[in-house]
Amino acid sequence: MKLQLQLETIPVWDGLKEDSECFLCSLMKKAEEDGIRYYLSSAVMTPEVRVEMNRYGFCPHHSALLAEGGKPQSLALAMDTYYDENKKVFTPHIENVLKAGNARKTMKAAEALFEAAHEREKGCLVCARMDERLLRYAYTIASLWNTDMDFRKALEDSKGFCLHHTEALIRTAEKALSGDDLAAFCKSMVTLLQKNLDRVQHDDWWMTQKYKSENKDKPWNGAEDAQKRAVYKLIGEGRVIDPVRK
Ligand SMILES: [Zn+2]
Ligand SMILES: [Zn+2]
Repeated sequence: MKLQLQLETIPVWDGLKEDSECFLCSLMKKAEEDGIRYYLSSAVMTPEVRVEMNRYGFCPHHSALLAEGGKPQSLALAMDTYYDENKKVFTPHIENVLKAGNARKTMKAAEALFEAAHEREKGCLVCARMDERLLRYAYTIASLWNTDMDFRKALEDSKGFCLHHTEALIRTAEKALSGDDLAAFCKSMVTLLQKNLDRVQHDDWWMTQKYKSENKDKPWNGAEDAQKRAVYKLIGEGRVIDPVRK
């Protein structure tokens, strides 16, 4: 299915110029910060937002970021009504545990309580906002690659993307491109990935060599943080974990 989305040309070009290991990681970290800021802002005072927050809530990762976000008043308010909502869900299960007869029935009722808790934990509003942006950024990258040859060249000469976001990019490309264009984009991005995984591995290898005494005085060639880049080039940063699907 082809989508018509508004292009995010400026953030995507700015990201590309940043020359990082994956500018989708940088854009998504920014999207995450914006999402956390939004759910700690005065937006939580509006009834529609509160209804959504009480219904869906946040994944454990984003709940923790909200807790550490330095906005006690907004969060206290949101948590108070979230607890009320929890009570509606949990109370019948808690009563079942308390009135259960033997051990088997008690454990079964406890299991139902925690199943309800897991159900309650599903879906995250911050992840949902991040996911919308990831879709638009990835769509923009595929579209620009296809229409703007300066962009294509700059992208193909760049450090590329992490493995995690390469997948997101190629999955989204189907919404922007088709046929030969889609195949060419997919091959181009996989070539870019392969080349840059090799580059990062080479930096990582050079770090292992630098720890040998005979190489002590040789230059680092930019490999000072190679071990970390080797990790994040695979897993990415600012990952969408469990977006609410409405
Ligand atoms: Zn990434
Ligand atoms: Zn989340």
